[in-house]
Amino acid sequence: MRWALFLGSLAVALLIGVWALQVPGARGTDTPAADFSAVRAMADVRVIGARPHPVGSADHARVQSWLFGRMAAQGLNPALQAGALSPEAIERLRRWGGDPAAAGNMAVNIVGVLPGRDPSAPAVLLMAHYDSAWNSPGAADDGAGVAAILEAVRAIKARGPADRSLVVVFTDSEELNLDGARIFFSEHPLRDRIGAVVNLEARGGGGRAFMFETGRGNAETIDLFSRAARRADGGASSSSLSIFVYENMPNGTDFTISRNRGIAGVNFAFIGRPSQYHSPTATPDNLDQGAVQHIGSQALEATDALLRADALPVPGRNVVYGDYLGLFTIVHSLDLGWTLLALTAALGAFAAWGARHATGLTAADVGRGMLSGLWVVAMGIVVAHGVRVLAGPMSSRAESADVYYTLLRRLPWMEAGTGLAMAAVALALLAGRQAFGSKLLAGVIIVAVAAAQILGGLDPVVLGAGVVALGLTVWSQSAPRTVWGGWLGLIALIFVFGLMAQAAAPEAALIFIWPGLLAALAAAACALTGARLESPRSLIPAVVATVVGGAWILNLSHQVFLGVGMDLPGVLALMTVLVLLFLVPLAPRSKGRLGAAAAACLILACGLSLTARFAEPAPAPAADGPT
Ligand SMILES: [Zn+2]
Repeated sequence: MRWALFLGSLAVALLIGVWALQVPGARGTDTPAADFSAVRAMADVRVIGARPHPVGSADHARVQSWLFGRMAAQGLNPALQAGALSPEAIERLRRWGGDPAAAGNMAVNIVGVLPGRDPSAPAVLLMAHYDSAWNSPGAADDGAGVAAILEAVRAIKARGPADRSLVVVFTDSEELNLDGARIFFSEHPLRDRIGAVVNLEARGGGGRAFMFETGRGNAETIDLFSRAARRADGGASSSSLSIFVYENMPNGTDFTISRNRGIAGVNFAFIGRPSQYHSPTATPDNLDQGAVQHIGSQALEATDALLRADALPVPGRNVVYGDYLGLFTIVHSLDLGWTLLALTAALGAFAAWGARHATGLTAADVGRGMLSGLWVVAMGIVVAHGVRVLAGPMSSRAESADVYYTLLRRLPWMEAGTGLAMAAVALALLAGRQAFGSKLLAGVIIVAVAAAQILGGLDPVVLGAGVVALGLTVWSQSAPRTVWGGWLGLIALIFVFGLMAQAAAPEAALIFIWPGLLAALAAAACALTGARLESPRSLIPAVVATVVGGAWILNLSHQVFLGVGMDLPGVLALMTVLVLLFLVPLAPRSKGRLGAAAAACLILACGLSLTARFAEPAPAPAADGPT
């Protein structure tokens, strides 16, 4: 029965989590005129993405004149805006083998306007770049964004006139150095009329489109966006956590330019099918039309809401928010995090009181449970890196762009391998570390750390995690002796992480606070209904929490791995603790079988990761590869 509860709730959580990763279906040409149709947009994608069209190429001129004609036909009254290419852009184009002189050393934006009824009202800008990377047809990056904008403009016109004007800018030279956006926002006469920006991007050929960047002080933007996204096909995928993570990464898009000027807005991108990123395989036929539907439908609804809003969002407070599986979005103030933490503490204390009453739980065992949670984090980081490097070097050590693109093609193998490795660590915790003996575990840690340092380069985080994992492994006091000790210890650990995150970066704290609250609620309910945790009935709260919370975490894990997993696979260690937060009380008592399953998962994880090298072999070294 325990096995059924354990495997059953985990399987349901996984199914729901994966189901929620699906893109909406592409809507056909019979879609009502006021709605977005990816099939209609694909007609433009097929023209734009027929061949690579980097700056200075004949196909660049072909795409430019095609878009000019399409905008004129839509009544946008287009005009070209040329500005000098930056030295960085010229340098990069030369490295690609292109000729800046063929472009007259210029980046050329195409700017159109759909006038609103009130010419004095701040305008809304829809933006995507029409240049492609070298050698890539760019059907996804950013042909999909450009085509989606043309389709969205058609739908907005079908909805009738708005008060605000809509400015459409197809920027140039984004791939070289964001030149087009910089030229628009520093030189174009319309630049001071822009009150909000909607930008469309792609870093891959499919998957759900994330809204991953807003202006500063985003409470009003999020309020408007989350209401608009309810009307979009497939709902929204967005959270203040992803915005916080992206803000702290070096990457930039055209949106960076407007954001730095203090303009509100939303930035969308899809990042699935990563092998198509800047790749010759990014053709119209390989593009995920569901991704076009998702990004286009959200861009349409967000833009339409901005055009018809009484007032555009102005910078104010930041808020905490996140979608639940694309179904709905939870929004709350930064300060509410403290209240939720207090609630978690109260629920956890109630559960501890019930467990002490029924089973004689001691504070020391909760302390040991906290240490075992730390063990999972440290062990997870070590094993994730050890398994990940079997699939190839870290991207910072890729000696050419070709190697980097090979790594992107290997990403699904890396994800499968790292994911299974995390399952191994979780099962090892549930089996109890004595099931293996500390010598065997220490051996695994040493081999994984050595592999990560030798194949992946010196990494102080992995080294540090290795030391912590080793210390906790050999220290017998770090393993809890009761189920309640292990469970409440994990809840206490995540509570502490939540406190630290709330103090340092409250926008990101939801990743600890929300799951911690759910787990504490489940623990309190279990303590109330059957604190001995023996009858299946008394475990129902844990089953519900595993399904509801586990589905969210597993879904998020995939997004996180697509975003940063190649170089930071250890983030999955945190996700592993969060799933265990719900799962611990459901663990079967047969330690031997859990241990065997852990060993099998780890062996399979290594096998999958290694297979990447054969399934996606590295290219022959080129003399001077494009970057
Ligand atoms: Zn792009």
